[in-house]
Order: sequence, then structure tokens, then C-alpha cells
Amino acid sequence: MTDFDVDLFVIGAGSGGVRAARVAAGYGAKVLVAEEYRIGGTCVIRGCVPKKLMVYASRFADDFADAEGFGWTVGETSFDWGKLIAAKDKEISRLSAIYRANLEKTGVAFVQSRAIVEDAHTVRILAENRTVRARYILIATGGAPFLGPEIPGRELAITSNEIFDLKEQPKRILIVGGGYIAVEFASLLERLGSKVTVALRGENILRGFDEDARCFLRDSLTERGVEFKFNDMPVRLEKKDEAIHASLAQGEILEVDQVMLAIGRRPATQGLGLDRAGVRLDAVGAVCVDSFSQSSVPSIYAVGDVTNRVDLTPVAIREGHAFADTVFGGKPRAVDHMHLPTAVFTTPELGTVGMTEEEARLKHTVVDVFKTSFRPLKATLCGSCDRVFMKIIVDGETDRVLGVHIIAGDAGEMIQLLGIIIKMGATKADFDATMAVHPTSAEELVTLHTRTMRYEQPKLDPGEAPALMDEEQMP
Ligand code: NDP
Repeated sequence: MTDFDVDLFVIGAGSGGVRAARVAAGYGAKVLVAEEYRIGGTCVIRGCVPKKLMVYASRFADDFADAEGFGWTVGETSFDWGKLIAAKDKEISRLSAIYRANLEKTGVAFVQSRAIVEDAHTVRILAENRTVRARYILIATGGAPFLGPEIPGRELAITSNEIFDLKEQPKRILIVGGGYIAVEFASLLERLGSKVTVALRGENILRGFDEDARCFLRDSLTERGVEFKFNDMPVRLEKKDEAIHASLAQGEILEVDQVMLAIGRRPATQGLGLDRAGVRLDAVGAVCVDSFSQSSVPSIYAVGDVTNRVDLTPVAIREGHAFADTVFGGKPRAVDHMHLPTAVFTTPELGTVGMTEEEARLKHTVVDVFKTSFRPLKATLCGSCDRVFMKIIVDGETDRVLGVHIIAGDAGEMIQLLGIIIKMGATKADFDATMAVHPTSAEELVTLHTRTMRYEQPKLDPGEAPALMDEEQMP
């Protein structure tokens, strides 16, 4: 122990790294954190937080329009992109400073530098060209946007890293991809007045989400004015005057001001020296870890997006906390990655927890589906055609609720609470026994008594049972 300079060296001051450092220091560990960019990581600096601020900005467009239906006369409105970006930057700097102060308060030392691993216990701090010996090393470097194939002109495209700092709002934008980032930015930029086209390789957005929810959200974004190019991707980008001409595989050429690639992210392990230290990485460069976040080298752990388990901020925070409890607190703790509630911050939002209908039908013999779509009360006076979608998936044999999917104004807020209920193992009877809160949209969740559909697999004799599919064979 005495030949170590620190007990813990954390590489990366994002959500997972900061939490791990603070908790470990709380247990009395001597901790040093290195970060090459700004404290706060993707979530705070160029992810969840600035994105949500932009989502809020975008929703005023509807509020102004809706207000008239409620008797208001709204004067001329205008939107100033520069003002929003400046206000957002101020808030992000404030948050980053709080993260730093919190580290200092717990006695964690911080160094602004890229750090690379030299061996199982040695980290080099590049800015100071010195090495530090650490009893444990935690890799919490997160991920970086994936740029996809090297098509001609790809360097003209931006990613979600740059969109937050654009000096001007793109009047016309092509977003490539159909995941979280693509649909969130499509929705918010359209509301802020951009003409948005989304090109994606698949036939629908948000692969892996409930099929009905995907279709409902796609239709709602389309109705609003977002144009989707399914089974289509850019094959060439060319700068012509101030515009970018994006040639799509199916032959169309789009003239836009910006092209944003949102085709996933990759673990940030390049050049980190992990291979040299003997740390096993998977095919996309993620650190392979066990359920306690320990890598193939016993003194090196990894949490958050760099492990490519579930790329969500709260998961990274939990993993960081569990790591510190396990290694420094004497309380071994693995994070349960099941039943994670999550939200896509489009307008309307998509909130989801538990199984999709498709997943439930693969795993359960009897599946009951309850679903509804309705116009929320607020839409009645303002003439908006917004609709709410709700779907509850139930195990028909045990009555346990397997999943809930909601598309609504506040679906993110609703799904957080439903996450508790589903985790506790609530049954549909529990939902039905709960008193409604009236008038709300969420009350539909406890008044949805009529089953829409029951899927029942015929009971097979044990001899006839089909072999179980492994994950890769599943549709
Ligand atoms: P996603 O994994 O959500 O989506 C990636 C998209 O890119 C999919 O449409 C995928 O298509 C497509 N794609 C992947 N590889 C290729 C390729 N080689 N060529 C063409 N298309 C490709 O990634 P995002 O970048 O949107 O977001 C990254 C992560 O950040 C997410 O996994 C999410 O966990 C997190 N995030 C969470 C948010 C939230 O919680 N609200 C918000 C934003 C991000 P296909 O479906 O066909 O594979």
C-alpha cells in the first residue's frame, strides 16, 4: 500500500467518475481525478442538460400558439438562437463549477490533463509528464460520437458535440440516424423553426422501443413537419456556396445548412493504453467488466458509457457509486440494469419502462395488452391535434405489469414514478385499485380496464418445446 501515491486514480470527470471519486473519498480514500476537457462530462457539457434546456426553449413555440385558445392575445414573437446558446453556456459553466467545488469539498484532487494507463497501477498525466502509482484505476472516459463510413465530404458534418455551440441556427438541417439524439434534435429544431430532414438506414425510428410507440411518435413528428427518409443515408456531402448538398443513396440531393451525424456513440478508449495494460476490450472498444465493474485486470475498473452496458447518465452514476461502495466501502454492490425507466425528450415525450410488447410475446406465454390514445384536455381549447398514447403490457398468467409505454407532454415525469411501481412488481390489479387523479392524462393508466389484445401461445408438450433462441437470433 505504501508504494502507491493514491488509492484511486479516476480518468474522466463525467457523471460516473465524479460520483465514484466523491464516494471513495468519503470512505477515506486518497483520490486523484484527471479530465482533459471540462468537469461534468457529456451529460452536463454537451448532452442531457443543454439538450433539455433547448427542448424547453422549443416548447414556447406551442405555448404562444396555444395561448390564444385560452383567451390570450400574444404579440409578435421571435426567437434568438444566440441568446439561448449564451444562456445555456452560462448555466453549463455554473454546473461545471459546482461539480468541481463538490470534488474539492470531499478532498478529491483534480488535474486538468489527459491521462493514459501505463500498467495495472500506473497512470501518466500528459500535461505534467509525470506518472502516478494508484492502488486502483477507474476508467470513466465515456464515449464519443460515431462518425460512420468515410463518405466523401464527411468532414462537413457536425455531431451532437458541435450542435450546442453553433453560432447560427441552421435554417435547414439533415440529421442522420434514428436514435435518441436524432429524434430529440429533430423535434426541438423543428419547433425552433428549422426545416428538419432525418435520414436513417432503418424503416422506423428508435429501434428497440415498443413498435406501437415508435409508429405513434414517428407519425406525430411527421405531422409536425419533420421529414423522414427511411432506408436512406447520405453517400456524399459537398459544400456549394454557403450550403451543403447532401446526396442520398436513393438519389435525392438535399440542400441544407448543416448535416448532423447521430448514428450512435463509441466508448472512448482509443489511445488510453488499456491494451498495453492487458485490459480486455470488446469489438467496439468498450472495457469488458463484470457485474462489479471490474475489468480483466483486477486493479482496473470501468463505469459508464465506456463499458457500453446502458449508455445513460443515471446508470453511470449508480455504477460509479456501487464501485466505490464495493472497493472502498466494504459493501460489494452490483447495479441492477433491469427495468430501467427512460425518456426520449421529443415533443411529445416518449417514456418507457420494462418490456415492449414484442419482447413480452417472446418471453411470456400469455400477454395482455391495454392501450389507448386520446386528446388531452388542454388540446381541446387550443385546437391542437396533439394526442396522448399509453400502453400497458401485462403477463396474462401472473397479472404482473411487464412494461408501460407513454407518449405525452410529461411522459418523462410519469415514467420516473412508474419505474418504482414496475420495479416493485405491481400487478394490473394494483393499477386498477389505485384511485385516479382527475383531470390528468396519467389517470388513464388506472382507468384502462378494457384489454385491447391477448396473445396466447399454445401449450406445447415438453417434447415439442422449441429450442430457445439466443439473443443474436432474436428479431
Ligand atoms: P442510438 O443508439 O440511440 O441510435 C443510433 C442510430 O444510429 C440508430 O438509428 C441506428 O440505426 C443508427 N446507426 C448505428 N450505426 C449506424 C451505421 N453504421 N450506419 C448508419 N446508421 C447507424 O444512438 P444516439 O447517437 O442517438 O445516442 C447515443 C446514446 O446516448 C444512446 O444510446 C442513449 O443511450 C444516449 N442518449 C440518451 C438520451 C436520453 O436518455 N434521453 C438522449 C440522448 C442520448 P439502427 O436502429 O438501424 O441500428
